Amino acid sequence: MRLVTTDAIVLRSYNLAESDRIVVCLTRSSGLVRAVAKGARRMKSRFGAALEPFTLIKLSFHERENRDLVTISGAEILKSHFNLSANFESAEVLAYMGEMVAEFAPPHETDERLFRMLTACVEALAQQAGTERPLMRYFEIWLLRLAGLFPDFRACAECGAALSTTATVDAELRSYCENCGPWNASTLAADIINIIRASHQLSPSKFVAEHSLTERQYSEIGDLTHRLITRAIERRPRTLVAANR
Ligand SMILES: [Zn+2]
Repeated sequence: MRLVTTDAIVLRSYNLAESDRIVVCLTRSSGLVRAVAKGARRMKSRFGAALEPFTLIKLSFHERENRDLVTISGAEILKSHFNLSANFESAEVLAYMGEMVAEFAPPHETDERLFRMLTACVEALAQQAGTERPLMRYFEIWLLRLAGLFPDFRACAECGAALSTTATVDAELRSYCENCGPWNASTLAADIINIIRASHQLSPSKFVAEHSLTERQYSEIGDLTHRLITRAIERRPRTLVAANR
């Protein structure tokens, strides 16, 4: 048994037996971890509020070979986001991000960039009220990008020309210039390409401060990201709420 101590963000938790909880966390050093918090549901639990979803914690657990489920030995709050979960819109976005990260993160495999992206998104949401929608698209683009599943909008897959204004994307996620796109490819307008490029360059807090997204931009980018996500996980996300369909 090896004792691991790492920063972690709680994605979700559910009850186990009479007094325990299972917590799904994205950790900085060990990727996605499922852990048992013994006695977490007792009135005077030593974990207190540390296991609430989207709390940033210093997590200690014992790792065993060939064991998927680890046992938590300590959880100390680094940053609590209690007010976020109290807001309906942000709570929905958090639930969605939690579901998606749990799907995309490889278990017990370090993914520092995913960890940093998720914590930065939660931080941006906490700092700027009313930014749920652009933040959600930013998160989706980066989730796909880090998984190597987001189209590259730099050059046409057919003729190699640099893609400047518009682009079309086919079912295989290749992007083309106006002349080369196959008949069944979907065309993305210049403003959409610009927003996607901006998301690649900016931090989440900068992105949401500069891009409020119109109804059309929000839904057109969503059409692309949801198509890619549904393809990657082979189902539609459960937590994709009505407003974001
Ligand atoms: Zn071309």
